[in-house]
Amino acid sequence: MTPSSSSALELHDVSHAYDKVKAVEHVSLHVNEGEVICLLGPSGCGKSTILRLAAGLETLQQGRVIMQGQTIADGGARLSVPPEQRGVGLVFQDFALFPHLTVARNIGFGLTELDAGRREKRIAAVLDQVDMIEYAGAFPHALSGGQQQRIALARALAPQPAVLLLDEPFSGLDARLREQIRDETLHVLKRSRTATLMVTHDPDEAMFMADRIYLMEAGRIVQSGSPDALYHRPVSPFVTRFFSNTNELTGRVSGGMLATPFGALPAAGLGDGTDVQVLIRPESLQWVSAGSGSLPTASGRVEEVRFLGGSKLLVVRVEGATGEGMLFHVRHSGRHLPEAGSRILLQLDPADALIFPSRREEGRKDLAAAR
Ligand code: ADP
Repeated sequence: MTPSSSSALELHDVSHAYDKVKAVEHVSLHVNEGEVICLLGPSGCGKSTILRLAAGLETLQQGRVIMQGQTIADGGARLSVPPEQRGVGLVFQDFALFPHLTVARNIGFGLTELDAGRREKRIAAVLDQVDMIEYAGAFPHALSGGQQQRIALARALAPQPAVLLLDEPFSGLDARLREQIRDETLHVLKRSRTATLMVTHDPDEAMFMADRIYLMEAGRIVQSGSPDALYHRPVSPFVTRFFSNTNELTGRVSGGMLATPFGALPAAGLGDGTDVQVLIRPESLQWVSAGSGSLPTASGRVEEVRFLGGSKLLVVRVEGATGEGMLFHVRHSGRHLPEAGSRILLQLDPADALIFPSRREEGRKDLAAAR
């Protein structure tokens, strides 16, 4: 997706280094009006740096930041609008509420441009939005973690920012509460139609919250798109593994096909002789009582059955032509379970076998390009 005329925030070819450490390299992204965008990636990949550059908390070294059509930072031109003039709202992991101010005063803090009457009205409106109106006179220490998070969100939304920037806003909350609060937060963001850029390292959180995800690795964006696109059409093993566990095989393409324990699978777009890795998600393998005839199957022995709450994990050893065979993890959601030790049939839709050239192949290509 390209930036639309209603884009709230754009970063163009932004790079940033701390001394000699390259933290962000050639990152371009955009957030349209009303969109919730997640910047996702492992710890240290540069997500917070991007957020701080957008907020103006870090001086831009290279590239441009544009908000609602206006350039607010330009590395080449050494232009940098100060953070308080950018019209961004910020929520950090630790919520950063002022401990000596009541909830109402925390929220009113950024509303100095309004007269007293309009300020009171705005405070009441955002407290109502996050369902905390009865806590207006409370102090932060008297609130639970979830309530503090809601107040931090209300404070950031109060000045009606053009863009809301959230840095790991739920990671200070325990697991059960986190799910509830992120659901509530998403409703508030969507109702207020606030353009939002949120940093998270949690793939489930990004898939739940985001209209689009930018996935980063080592300072660069490696894939962007809808949660569905990243999950079902990953461009690399890194992207695939980031969203779930995988069963992994290797092989070599021959006659346009790849030999696997599930029989020969088509290796579209990969030339004969290419070394490949095949990634198969545990939920892509179905335990069936009889093959459908049209989809490939493999038989194996159940070694372990483990409970994962709603679903179960079966560990199944599929015998190959030689050796001890290979262990496959299978996610199963039915009530009925096979006994450990029993033989079962696994079915795979070839479309769910994600096939990539192996690292060695990528290395060979890079070498050839460098020559
Ligand atoms: P993330 O938010 O994805 O965890 P960061 O943007 O915080 O990543 O950090 C990216 C890289 O920059 C890391 O290698 C980190 O150690 C480094 N870094 C971040 N902030 C600073 C800083 N103030 N000084 C020096 N190095 C930093």
